[in-house]
Amino acid sequence: MDKQEHLKMIEQLSNANGPSGFEHEVVEVVKKYLPTKTTAMSDAMCNTIIRYQNKAQGNQPTLLLDAHLDAVGFIVQAVKPNGTIKFVPLGGWVPANVTAEKVRIKNRAGQWITGVVATKPPHFMTAEERQQPITFENLVIDVGSISAVETTEKLQIDTGCPIVPDVQWQYFADRDLMLGKAFDNRIGTAAVLAVIDELKDEQLAVDLVGALAAQEEVGCRGVKVTVRQIKPQIAICVEGCPADDTFTPAWLSQTGFKRGPMLRDMDTSFIATPKFQAFAVQQAESLGIPFTRAVRTGGGIDGSELLYYQGIPTICVGIPVRYEHTHYGMVAYQDFIKTVKLLKQIILKLDAATIAEF
Ligand SMILES: [Zn+2]
Repeated sequence: MDKQEHLKMIEQLSNANGPSGFEHEVVEVVKKYLPTKTTAMSDAMCNTIIRYQNKAQGNQPTLLLDAHLDAVGFIVQAVKPNGTIKFVPLGGWVPANVTAEKVRIKNRAGQWITGVVATKPPHFMTAEERQQPITFENLVIDVGSISAVETTEKLQIDTGCPIVPDVQWQYFADRDLMLGKAFDNRIGTAAVLAVIDELKDEQLAVDLVGALAAQEEVGCRGVKVTVRQIKPQIAICVEGCPADDTFTPAWLSQTGFKRGPMLRDMDTSFIATPKFQAFAVQQAESLGIPFTRAVRTGGGIDGSELLYYQGIPTICVGIPVRYEHTHYGMVAYQDFIKTVKLLKQIILKLDAATIAEF
């Protein structure tokens, strides 16, 4: 795939509606961009396993290449008598980031209905109300309906309907800037597809299996299934990782826009396998790819479930995403392609003897 093909794939993955538990559209895009010489299998949860068709499987260590398919979203809890919609988050949102934003709701007929997260106009707010914290308890979505009957019967929106930010992906070539929703983790999903494609004609000393997991944002649920199905000997978790460079002093910034891939040493769920991490650093240095290392006091990733499955060597390679878990994320294509190149090099250099040393 060249840059234009990568951008087209990322655009479709970003635009796909796939909040946790409702990843079906994302799976359709994945199948459309399935690397040649591979096959994909999905389960009812939408976990999707990608394998090479014509490569020997079983006599080499299995490498699980993970990315999660879902993104943070919302779900309808109930319709209020005035036709507005009470909703709850799927994944980690800050309520203040949601107000006055456009969303789309998948109705019972499978159509996506646009609405906005309603706000009280400043004209009606008391001085005290302006200071009050915003909570999901008090937020509703307005789809332009005037009654519960209109919302539930005409628009067919009711309890359990999934909701996503109503955002279209854009690319600004002058800044090498992709602006869109759901880069956590559609950008990681795109990187997994891109690197499997890059490696299709290579002789590998590991059996490479792509494992695209559902429901990460609600507690790393899909990866519990994929890791047990694949039973890997080694794993790499590929993530869209939150960039810190716009609000952190330079000396402490560890994931930055246009600073290359991030190799995560630690977060609250996970500590990378030290020797595997050192091996990844060595590969980045040998290629001259800039990278950052990160020790995070928050966050959690699929990598934890991979690591704790059977204590297998595991690292997390991340693509920096500014403003994750909001409507609009920012990713530089150069960070994406450098991450793909680093992953390719790591996978090419892995073999049974090297893995045994980790
Ligand atoms: Zn993520």
